Amino acid sequence: MSDEPGNQKDDYNEMQEFDFVPNFIPLPVVFHSFTEEGPFTKCTICNELLLEDGNPYLIHKAFHRGEVIFEYAMCLLCRSKMQEELSAESLERINSYMDQYHIEKRGESLMKDHGTDVGPWISHCLISGKPIEGEDEYHYYAFCDGSDLVFNGLPMALAGGVDEELNELLSKQTRDRLDGFVDEQFGLPPELRKPIKGGPILI
Ligand SMILES: [Zn+2]
Repeated sequence: MSDEPGNQKDDYNEMQEFDFVPNFIPLPVVFHSFTEEGPFTKCTICNELLLEDGNPYLIHKAFHRGEVIFEYAMCLLCRSKMQEELSAESLERINSYMDQYHIEKRGESLMKDHGTDVGPWISHCLISGKPIEGEDEYHYYAFCDGSDLVFNGLPMALAGGVDEELNELLSKQTRDRLDGFVDEQFGLPPELRKPIKGGPILI
């Protein structure tokens, strides 16, 4: 009898834990477009409009010493077109390389501990585990739908230094294709090309 109030409280807490937590938020400022001075309104590649619900796309922003040096939003159609151009072996190697970092499991535990507070999701390099703060170069990635950022394993951060390891996984054909993509889409000043061209731009 005396246990009952406690039991009821446990039941109550359990119900609270299962309350629905939405896994999306309006796109936070850190993922806004530097050039558009707000959310990305269109796919950087095909100009498809993005801000309606039901338009999924990826955002990649690269920073060098705190400044945006590279950014794009890519609709999933463009992404799959691009992946078709890459060699199957390269894709396979990247996928199994990324598999060892258990992006989905990491997402689940971040969601449990921090919910949709974007800070902890991008505070450390996914691969090295080191804090992003203090890194010269780093990359942020997010998956979005319309005007929302979706928590689905992303968002995440990579430090600039991890790119060499990723580069080694790419075939020459794939590397050339990615470099070509960067040259076509982004007229980067030559001094910035090297870090970016080495960057892990395909996720
Ligand atoms: Zn597109």
